[in-house]
Amino acid sequence: MRNTILGGAGKMHTGIGRRQFVRVLGAATVGAMATAAGSGSVRYDRPGSAPTTRMQPPAPYALPALPYAYDALAPFLSETTLRLHHDKHHNGYVNGLNRTLERLAAAREVGDYAAIKALSRDLAFHGSGHVLHTLYWQSMAPGGTALRGRLADAVKRDFSSPDAFLAQFAAACKATEASGWGVVAYEPLGRRVLILQAEKHQNLTVWGVTPLLVCDVWEHAYYVDYRNARSDYVDGFLAVADWASAGQRYVAALANQA
Ligand code: MN
Repeated sequence: MRNTILGGAGKMHTGIGRRQFVRVLGAATVGAMATAAGSGSVRYDRPGSAPTTRMQPPAPYALPALPYAYDALAPFLSETTLRLHHDKHHNGYVNGLNRTLERLAAAREVGDYAAIKALSRDLAFHGSGHVLHTLYWQSMAPGGTALRGRLADAVKRDFSSPDAFLAQFAAACKATEASGWGVVAYEPLGRRVLILQAEKHQNLTVWGVTPLLVCDVWEHAYYVDYRNARSDYVDGFLAVADWASAGQRYVAALANQA
């Protein structure tokens, strides 16, 4: 039976989910089996209908293009910095994420989880690195954009004023320990905006938040242009921050929650 189902390619686990089971056997076969077993509610074997449960594995992660030219943020950030940061650093996290997923697949294949702690850590590190860098590029726009609309209303509600909000965000960015991020995020349980610090990429978050705008404060983000003056870099970041796109992400997060 096992070889018939999986062609000898793997083990048949007793806990296999129905969706996997359907994918492995083919929808029509499962439908026929279910019908034979007396279930009248199964819809998988309708003649002529395409199987709806056959899912393709997701594509590998890919480095998104910058949403502007490499020199678009000068003089705040040089073309050299953006080329290094995007093409080398961000791309490194994309490759690390794909490599980690391949190693996890290989571990599953042979049932060897000796490296699961390191692989899980790598998944969080590279995965969060890719997510945050993708959002970082979207968090800036040449000249910056104003904080207004529903996000501005929420900021006034949760931080008393936009100035207080911006002061706290700047302080959080400047004081993030070692390599990390300042993060503006929407937290859906309490329905409020939070300012977080992330150490490395994955530490110190609150689960379930939607990041709205992020500031990379790893040294690679600013050392070429600002040396060790992170404070000057953060002040410059605020001058190009794209609050309009953050506002769009906030509205989308509210809509997703509804
Ligand atoms: Mn970075």
